[in-house]
Amino acid sequence: MYHRVLDGFDPLQAEIHQAKVMDTQFRTLRQFFQVLPLDEAADMLMQGRLPPRAVSITFDDGYRDNHDLALPLLRQHGLNATFYVASGYLNGGLIFHDVLVETIRHAATGTLDLGIDGVERLQISDMASRIAAIRHLTKAMKYLEPGRRQQLSTRLLETLGPHAPRSLMMSDEQVRALSRSGMGIGGHTTHHVILSKLTAEAARDEIDSNRNTLSSIIDKPLTSFAYPNGKPGIDYDTSHVALVRESGYRNAVSTLSAVGTRQASAHELPRFVLNETTTIGVILRMLRMTAYAI
Ligand SMILES: [Zn+2]
Repeated sequence: MYHRVLDGFDPLQAEIHQAKVMDTQFRTLRQFFQVLPLDEAADMLMQGRLPPRAVSITFDDGYRDNHDLALPLLRQHGLNATFYVASGYLNGGLIFHDVLVETIRHAATGTLDLGIDGVERLQISDMASRIAAIRHLTKAMKYLEPGRRQQLSTRLLETLGPHAPRSLMMSDEQVRALSRSGMGIGGHTTHHVILSKLTAEAARDEIDSNRNTLSSIIDKPLTSFAYPNGKPGIDYDTSHVALVRESGYRNAVSTLSAVGTRQASAHELPRFVLNETTTIGVILRMLRMTAYAI
């Protein structure tokens, strides 16, 4: 499970891999594992005919670097991946997390007060304090009611003004280019909302509007969905699994850090993040993950 990939180092987001690390990971996966398109792998898993060491690659959210940096690497290695896109942010939008990161990046030294009940004021000075602030605020605001989070996002964006990045997410054309290259495009809700925070009606609307927008962009039906934030029982529950199935999705992925077996539900396939940066590290990690099979 990937989100972003960078061509340089961002001290504020050191956890994001640079393209050269992704290149090593892709080379290792190609050499020692069987990388399959997710839809194909999910079908084979359910039918009990998945080959050994099968792996699928996914990217969440719809960042432009997926098109600019990951797509060339995937093509170079002859690999396939599925990209889950929050369609409401295509063509110049920003996901709340990135509004927060850019706010902290550009915050003046001193006390930062976002003016939110229950969220404490933070001291901002050097890089370490900014990293700590991002971590703290991400955690404090992840489960903020969606309407309030949107209001806050709008306010922070106004404050950021010209510092707000204008092309962090893909354009419709870039999503289409991924699809034309044979990559999978999957649903991820329109506004990257945590489904368990919504009414059933609003959740259905987020799932359906996203599916309709993306399928009209790529001119194909969508087959795979990723639950935003993706923790089973916390970010979504069985009612959302049913909504996703009713919406016509053949499979769906969570962020439960595990390996899927034949017993797994096709609409709750687990995933994990590869933090390892070397060939041997990636292989050992893949071996270790077999202890977490569901
Ligand atoms: Zn996401």
